[in-house]
Amino acid sequence: MKVAIIGGGAAGFFAAIQVVENYPEAKVQILEKSKKTLAKVKVSGGGRCNVTNGAKTILELVKGYPRGANKLKKLFREFSNVEVQKWFAEKGVLLKEESDGRVFPISDSSQTIIDCFRSQTDVLGVKIRTSAAVSQIITESNMAITLVVNEEEEKYDKVIVATGGSPKVEGLKWLYSLGHKISDPVPSLFTFNIDDWSLRKLQGSVCKNAQVSVQGTKLKATGPLLVTHWGFSGPAILKLSAFGARDLAIKDYLFKIQINWTGGLSFEEVSENLNQIVKGNPNKQLLNYKPFGVTEKLWVYIISKSNLPVKKKWSELGKKGINKLLNTLTNDVYDVKGKTTFKEEFVTCGGIAWDSIDAKTMQSKEVSGLYFAGEILDIDGITGGYNFQAAWTTAYVAARLR
Ligand SMILES: Cc1cc2nc3c(=O)[nH]c(=O)nc-3n(C[C@H](O)[C@H](O)[C@H](O)COP(=O)(O)OP(=O)(O)OC[C@H]3O[C@@H](n4cnc5c(N)ncnc54)[C@H](O)[C@@H]3O)c2cc1C
Repeated sequence: MKVAIIGGGAAGFFAAIQVVENYPEAKVQILEKSKKTLAKVKVSGGGRCNVTNGAKTILELVKGYPRGANKLKKLFREFSNVEVQKWFAEKGVLLKEESDGRVFPISDSSQTIIDCFRSQTDVLGVKIRTSAAVSQIITESNMAITLVVNEEEEKYDKVIVATGGSPKVEGLKWLYSLGHKISDPVPSLFTFNIDDWSLRKLQGSVCKNAQVSVQGTKLKATGPLLVTHWGFSGPAILKLSAFGARDLAIKDYLFKIQINWTGGLSFEEVSENLNQIVKGNPNKQLLNYKPFGVTEKLWVYIISKSNLPVKKKWSELGKKGINKLLNTLTNDVYDVKGKTTFKEEFVTCGGIAWDSIDAKTMQSKEVSGLYFAGEILDIDGITGGYNFQAAWTTAYVAARLR
């Protein structure tokens, strides 16, 4: 059996290894259009490669996927984050889980993952062809699949497409022309640009637990928030950008956000807290009693944004002063004007639509013998190892060639 894997990235390598493990007699080739394979793995996770997430249950794991969660819930029963970690351990790659659930090789180097894939494909006899761009798939009545590789036709029995996310729909034309439906690609995982002079004072500050919502929508995310020189970043923003990828694209990345600096306590809860502080610390200056675990820099900013002097005593605030603080703490509004890529780490929301795929086998419903794996699918995750996990799982299932 001749098998071609189109794309020499994470999903392509994992699929190739699995195909040979499932079908030792198969002749497997990886066709990679660029000069280098595994380029994204190399730069992933800041060069450390966050291979998966340590979520303890499948239900917890699927929460990391704004798109594709339903399909992945079933696919993870076949091959989940637990199995991936076992797989790497069996191949001699030791992994560690960090306190936030991200899993990395203990070497803290993505090269360890690359070396593992290279040695596996070497041992298993997978042929790796770089500068081999596939531009067309031709289907034939005898079930063979012809690929146009660098203008030349080559015949295969089975083909797995693992060409990664395509930021533009034109990049998927060759698959659309075979009848596959495409879910329009838009970027996911980005930070928010804010043009607010006063915010510059906060640059570099982190609010450990903020809740950010997009005004006029149900989009909401809670977590650490980082103030950068261009606006807001950090896990809360990245999560919001992922879950809101489509809605925010429609808004052309122009929208208002509300920040609750207390991590989502209600107006009433914050009001109650502030009144307790007034009672317990009447003679303290605002500056000298920081509530809700905010940093001093952020607290000074919140006081000044509420038009209050930092030296004012808590007892002197009065109802009006409390209301001003309450408003800034729970409903601090900013105009977002555009987005910025997060550390060049982005994923594509959208891709080959699930309508065109049998989600049990990852086989195309349009072309028999053609399978899909990785980011080309309409799956994407938040940061934390979720995107690689989706690549490993879909590649594992596709490689059964069922
Ligand atoms: C900077 C950065 C850091 C990241 N870090 C992490 C992380 O730490 N953890 C995590 O979970 N996710 C991370 N991601 C996301 C993750 O890298 C991707 O989701 C994952 O690489 C997708 O794997 P893939 O094999 O589907 O696609 P890719 O890795 O993009 O591989 C696709 C390959 O196919 C090739 N190709 C495309 N078209 C053709 C064609 N027509 N013919 C032949 N070859 C073709 C491409 O050249 C490419 O080599 C990161 C992304 C970026 C950009």
